[in-house]
Amino acid sequence: MKYDVIIIGAGPGGIFSAYELTKKAPNLKVAVFETGYPLEERHCPIDGDKVKSCIKCKTCAIMNGFGGAGAFSDGKYNITNDFGGTLHEYIGKQKALELMNYVDEINVSHGGENTHMFTTAGSEFKKLCMQNKLTLLDASVRHLGTDINYIVLGKLYDELKDKVDFKFKTPVSDIEQTEGGYKVIYGEGEFDECKKCVVSVGRSGSKWMESVCKKMGIPTSSNRVDIGVRVEIPAEIFSHLTDKLYESKIVYRTAKFEDAVRTFCMNPNGIVVNENTNGIVTVNGHSFEDPSKKTNNTNFALLVAKHFSEPFKDSNGYGESIARLSNMLGGGVIVQRFGDLERGRRSNQKRIDEGTIQPTLAATPGDLSLVLPKRILDGIIEMIYALDRIAPGTANDDTLLYGVEVKFYNMEVKLNERLECNYPGLFIIGDGSGVTHSLSHASASGVYVADIIAEES
Ligand SMILES: Cc1cc2nc3c(=O)[nH]c(=O)nc-3n(C[C@H](O)[C@H](O)[C@H](O)COP(=O)(O)OP(=O)(O)OC[C@H]3O[C@@H](n4cnc5c(N)ncnc54)[C@H](O)[C@@H]3O)c2cc1C
Repeated sequence: MKYDVIIIGAGPGGIFSAYELTKKAPNLKVAVFETGYPLEERHCPIDGDKVKSCIKCKTCAIMNGFGGAGAFSDGKYNITNDFGGTLHEYIGKQKALELMNYVDEINVSHGGENTHMFTTAGSEFKKLCMQNKLTLLDASVRHLGTDINYIVLGKLYDELKDKVDFKFKTPVSDIEQTEGGYKVIYGEGEFDECKKCVVSVGRSGSKWMESVCKKMGIPTSSNRVDIGVRVEIPAEIFSHLTDKLYESKIVYRTAKFEDAVRTFCMNPNGIVVNENTNGIVTVNGHSFEDPSKKTNNTNFALLVAKHFSEPFKDSNGYGESIARLSNMLGGGVIVQRFGDLERGRRSNQKRIDEGTIQPTLAATPGDLSLVLPKRILDGIIEMIYALDRIAPGTANDDTLLYGVEVKFYNMEVKLNERLECNYPGLFIIGDGSGVTHSLSHASASGVYVADIIAEES
């Protein structure tokens, strides 16, 4: 047995598992296998000049590598059980919050000491939202920012690299149970053996995770996908909210279909970016802590959750089809002025250029009504008008909508309260398990299983 523990995936889940193991059980021999590159070698080829949009690299530098999907993210660590995953359903609310706060302490002590913690506690916006049929969810959020997040990751790597065997550019192709543990297979049939295995492959590893579960007979369920657009507005319009809360998670129940539409991933003075998931280009956003990198715009997603019931099971396939449609029409992400959408016409470059908002992503002007299902589009339009009541100007003609933003949920793997599947010693954590959908929950799940492994070693 070469290793005591093999961790698959070096995203926040994998990193915090490794970190905690080195602290609580320094004698254990630990390896981390990662498809992508070390942090300093992760470079997205989009430079806005020669390469303007996603060229669909085989290994996406944004999604894969040390730091995982979170490496170039806005680094918003939300400390809450209200969103970001359902970790609390497995480990209890108090434990989940305790671990999220513990992760926060580690981030703060590894470069995040000058960053800000925002909170909705006692906020006057709760009442304002309620008065306008909106609900502001409770959370504290540490905003590291893309730049500090990168520094924190660099420091964590420096601390781990001599204690843990990192195997970059090494996608794991299979896992097999052996007499005393697991065989982790990679390359041309090469393998390493371990006593315990922690799988933390994130969203980019979702298809692989699905195939492993199928092959090993690990029960899963799946029925949700979130679909919507990314809204970009002048930062002043939301500044009363973002200055106080940084990120506000606001939910609206539509009058027409009674669907919940929610704001997601708010980036004050940030930029809109492409995201490539398994070759499909969708939209996302982030922002920097460094004042020199701040833009005049704020962006956030508006998402509608779609839950499917029998007989349809492929909710991610549904989201992918919609994203593919936008890629087919726009060659990537489509951008449309809200005024054009309301008038039933496509946006063109001239109208975008004449608008008062300078787009931060070079997307193809188009018509989102040709892409998004009516029910989802109606919900988004209703929500924009609802937000306009608490942040006048949101529903301006020049407001930019980028589409599509899709939040794929991995199928949920059936796990026990130890986050272990039906194979003893095979732990499945982070976004790849379907239990978490955020930096804080994924990281906390990593600490949680590492503590269990350390205690039993
Ligand atoms: C642009 C962007 C911005 C975001 N902003 C935020 C934010 O501000 N706040 C927030 O809470 N969340 C944010 N998120 C989501 C957040 O990044 C994820 O929830 C989080 O990274 C999940 O952590 P994870 O460890 O579970 O998975 P990941 O971070 O996805 O890491 C999984 C790792 O596993 C590797 N892997 C996959 N398959 C294999 C395999 N077979 N073999 C070996 N390695 C494999 C991948 O290469 C990847 O590096 C953002 C995501 C993106 C893309």
